[in-house]
Amino acid sequence: TSDGKDLNFMDPDKQQLQAQLDEAERKAKTIQETRASLPVAQHRDTIINAVKEHRILVLMGETGSGKSTQTPQYLRDSGYCKTGKIVVSQPRRVACLNLAARVSEEVASSSNSEAGKKYKPGAHRLGGIVGYNIRFDNKSGPDTEIIFETEGMLLREILADPLLSEYSCVILDEAHERTTDGDTLMALLKDLSRARPDDFRLVISSATLNAQKFSAYFDDAPILAVAGRTFEVERFYLPSPEANYLSATVTTIFTIHLAAPLDGDILCFLTGSDEILAAMENIQETSRKLGSRMKELIVRPLYSQLDPDEQALVFVPTPKGARKVILATNIAETSLTVDGVSYVIDCGYTKENQYNATTDMSQLVVVPCSRASVNQRAGRAGRQRKGSAFHLFTKFSYFNEMEEETVPEIMRVDLTPLCLLLKSLQINDVLNFGFMDPPPPATLAKALENLYALGALNDTGALTSVGRKLIEMPIDAKLARAILAADEFKVVDEVLVIAAMLSESATLFLRPKDKKVHADAARNRFVQESGGDHMLLLSVFNAWRDAEYDPIFAKENFLQQRTLNRCRDVYEQLGALCDRIEVQRSSNPGDHVGIKKALVAGYFQNAARMARDGQSYRTIKTGQTVAIHPSSCLHEPTRRPKLMLFHELVLTSREFARNCMPIESEWLMSAAPHYYKKEDIEKMSTDKKMPKGKGKVGVDGR
Ligand code: ADP
Repeated sequence: TSDGKDLNFMDPDKQQLQAQLDEAERKAKTIQETRASLPVAQHRDTIINAVKEHRILVLMGETGSGKSTQTPQYLRDSGYCKTGKIVVSQPRRVACLNLAARVSEEVASSSNSEAGKKYKPGAHRLGGIVGYNIRFDNKSGPDTEIIFETEGMLLREILADPLLSEYSCVILDEAHERTTDGDTLMALLKDLSRARPDDFRLVISSATLNAQKFSAYFDDAPILAVAGRTFEVERFYLPSPEANYLSATVTTIFTIHLAAPLDGDILCFLTGSDEILAAMENIQETSRKLGSRMKELIVRPLYSQLDPDEQALVFVPTPKGARKVILATNIAETSLTVDGVSYVIDCGYTKENQYNATTDMSQLVVVPCSRASVNQRAGRAGRQRKGSAFHLFTKFSYFNEMEEETVPEIMRVDLTPLCLLLKSLQINDVLNFGFMDPPPPATLAKALENLYALGALNDTGALTSVGRKLIEMPIDAKLARAILAADEFKVVDEVLVIAAMLSESATLFLRPKDKKVHADAARNRFVQESGGDHMLLLSVFNAWRDAEYDPIFAKENFLQQRTLNRCRDVYEQLGALCDRIEVQRSSNPGDHVGIKKALVAGYFQNAARMARDGQSYRTIKTGQTVAIHPSSCLHEPTRRPKLMLFHELVLTSREFARNCMPIESEWLMSAAPHYYKKEDIEKMSTDKKMPKGKGKVGVDGR
């Protein structure tokens, strides 16, 4: 045709553009076809009408049916964005990133398929019509109409504007997860919806069957159930309990891969990134041994700290002649759906944050998951065709050792952040705030006590000016308190750096298997005279800053540049917030004592002293035994201080304190005279009579 001929004579730029347009059109077609085939697509009009007629709608549907990606687009198409933005809240950051990317692409493709007429350059990039907002990372702009936000960020928006006047609609997604933030949002949005009956809509979106409970809670809101397309999933259990589910997972992967036809990918549930990385290594080793005797096996990890680019790889369709195995945490349970899975391998465990009000300690523990979780996980194998689920536990344990439902998070976590938020919203009677399931009174009492100890509440339980400042910072109240104290000691810049470094949980120190000695030596060069991990983090950042953020510097020192970049970003964002909390930017890198005293002002509750064995530690207030984490620069016996402050506890083989620093007892007393009794100090002074020198290395002499 003449078109073809014309093309040949186009200049190269135009040709390239035409090729891009053709590609976009082809892609748009498949995206639109996929959209149309999702189960929710059949209910499009029903959803739109129900939202029009009712203040609140409970939308229930199988995971992967299209609730998260389609509902906001349906509402946008029917004009809700004319009066305000649509926000979709998510319990997890990863889901926000992925959903925003996906929906952005879908929105772009729908304009493309409308002959590109409405195309407005830039508006279809992420942060254009579709954006996201997660902590320390906001990609949205003046054009944004649909925004995916973590629940925590939406709560912060309510804090700034209790009526959410910029929004016409909130979709509270994954409500079945029952996170503390999600439960809090439900209570607040219920009130908000009553206050804005005409121009605000609330959609509660849930994957599980107890939608009745949500409906009852929301003034008998109607329930719309989207029938999913599910296929039969054959379920297999172990005949006897298996102690090592990690190796059982790997064995099962190869059993499936070698025996079953190549027409389905494998999705494995493990509890965390450490297990996922160990499993990956294991699989790669076995694959190498099997060599050409097996078909290609593509291994893809999926966990929250993973780099977004790597996360996106999970969604790349498996090429013909190969099989994909996805190693995921419970992100893949309901938050993210990957097409093409026919086999699920489930270890039956999950990692959970547990708080003990008596000891005032939180820890991450691996616990058996609920039957509801097991069923959800198994269901992922039957989304597109018949599938199989391999449970790495016995049928007996399924029925007798697993709870029916996952306990709502609010029942088992530290409620200090929640109480600070509610107090900031002027909700004073926290105990009788209308939660779906009220939290344990003892935990609430402890939270109020903690806020009082931090100086955030006064004797009457009212928020103080310190409290109002703490809530301004999107970080742990203890860390925010340390920044306030840093102002007194004129070491704000240093504490901001430490705060940024502590807020980043991705790996910073690389330790390649074959270069462990070099990596450790590089890290040791940053260890400061006055000891401790906090000062180590500070000197790493400062050295990198002095090297002008050079990636070569990072590489030479076995540091993850990506993590450093993120820390820098967080540091800058925290710095920008200093004005709001009336903190002057000061700096004094040499004043190690001042820096440490500022940290003590926030973390005084996390103080522990060396036990008589000269090895382990006991927390001063509650007497709990803890050990210095092997990753700490104070782990080596000669470096262990008498008295230390730790950032957090993690429970693995035992109770470990992570990120520790040596401190002096006087600092504790002067930072928290209301918290530590004289007896605590007296006990400490008897300890001081123990032979000096040993374990004193690293504590500065002042
Ligand atoms: P629900 O909210 O009901 O669980 P979603 O709207 O999250 O369902 O998912 C709908 C579909 O979108 C699924 O088939 C999923 O595989 C697909 N999807 C989501 N994200 C991506 C992505 N990044 N790439 C390709 N497909 C995706």
